[in-house]
Amino acid sequence: MKNRVVSGYRPTGRLHLGHFHGNLKNMVSLQESHDCYFFIADWHALTTDYRDTSKLAKYTSEMMIDWLAAGLDPDKCTIYRQSDITSIPELVLYFGMTLSLGELERCPTYKEQLRELDSRVVNTYGFLGYPVLMAADILIVGAELVPVGEDQVPHLELTREIARRFNSLYDGIFPEPQPILSKAPRIPGTDGRKMSKSYGNYIQLDEEPGEILKKINKMITDPARKRRDDKGHPEVCSVFQLHGAYLPKEKLDEVDGLCREAGIGCTECKKMLAENVNESLAGFREERKRLEKRPEIVGDILREGSLKVNEIASGYLAEARNAMRIGAL
Ligand code: SF4
Repeated sequence: MKNRVVSGYRPTGRLHLGHFHGNLKNMVSLQESHDCYFFIADWHALTTDYRDTSKLAKYTSEMMIDWLAAGLDPDKCTIYRQSDITSIPELVLYFGMTLSLGELERCPTYKEQLRELDSRVVNTYGFLGYPVLMAADILIVGAELVPVGEDQVPHLELTREIARRFNSLYDGIFPEPQPILSKAPRIPGTDGRKMSKSYGNYIQLDEEPGEILKKINKMITDPARKRRDDKGHPEVCSVFQLHGAYLPKEKLDEVDGLCREAGIGCTECKKMLAENVNESLAGFREERKRLEKRPEIVGDILREGSLKVNEIASGYLAEARNAMRIGAL
């Protein structure tokens, strides 16, 4: 029996390098060895984008095509859309009853997003409750493993706490999921902050070579390196950080040394990065174009995925209701 893994992405547009190195690459390799459930988290998208839902369907299709082009294979993993799984909201309701506000407010990503995003957008019940929805997504399929970046570990800890609490309050049924920590490098955006859709600092996976070069040319480098012959400090440079995702160790050390001795200029260094990024995305771009000509594939995969997951999820929900004596006479 393979261990069950679950992971989801918000459909907020096409995927970028941060998604790819942060989790997608990992998902593609996990499907070979685990029982994987990957979902398009359209309800999660509402936590910040509830005002305008007009693009949700388009973003869902685009993301599915991105996933497939990156190598996810519906014959090796189950792909579905969160809003097709009708048992999730009921489980959110039960979990929400057992949590205090403080537990949710203490989540580091919540605090960070409050600082980074417009507070009018994120000061909502739905946004604060994001980790409860995440817990329901994971526990409704009985996942044992969840691939997460380090910043998501506190959320997963809360999921584990929710499972423990439920299991001890009632007659427990949920496995406590364990993290699979991805060793992904931190992918900086073009402004030096973490690459993110919300910050508008991203490079999409299907971006054309010219556009990639343009974006990389705008990236923040070592601010102390004003002229070509100034010696640089690669450790503060976002271009160097992004090189880390593409260059083998010896080559990275070489760039480090060249930068420190002003043996390479920032323009040349950025050009090298753009070439490597382009080369690595060439296959993806080609496959994506091929898949775009078969849009019906998205609906077919989602239908099949939701059939399978709804069956599993309704089983867990029935057990949860039974354990809580909900609906009993
Ligand atoms: S040479 Fe490269 S690593 Fe050094 S500061 Fe310029 S862009 Fe950054």
